[in-house]
Amino acid sequence: MYQFSRGIYRELAPLVERRNGGRGYLEDQLRVLDACESAIRRLASDRQYFAKPARSLFSDVRSFFPVARQHHVYRVIEHYVTLADEFLAALPPAGCDADGNPVQCRAMTRKGTPCQRTPLSRNGYCPSHQHLAETEHEEAPALAA
Ligand SMILES: [Zn+2]
Repeated sequence: MYQFSRGIYRELAPLVERRNGGRGYLEDQLRVLDACESAIRRLASDRQYFAKPARSLFSDVRSFFPVARQHHVYRVIEHYVTLADEFLAALPPAGCDADGNPVQCRAMTRKGTPCQRTPLSRNGYCPSHQHLAETEHEEAPALAA
């Protein structure tokens, strides 16, 4: 998701207003970067309850920009938030691979058919077949008999 927050930041950083003869300018740019990253992170993790992400991010950062640039700043934010939103909407639902097919456990059942259970993302085996993942790796600690 960082491509979206970095995209906003790349366009907005040069527009940050230099106040007090430029003192605190870098800190102000970093605050803008932080705000972009936390807004995009929240968009990715909490989309349902994040009603107006572009407006919310804009109100967090608008004070760092000259009044004459604020309309442009809002347009940049809105552009990238829309892209991020479309990107998230196109992702396959949880439990599916990149093609949208449901992911299944890699193990075979005793009948010789593929296990139909949902695997854990860390090793591709369902909770009942975790012992198979452990024997795959030599470095895995041996189970107590
Ligand atoms: Zn299984």
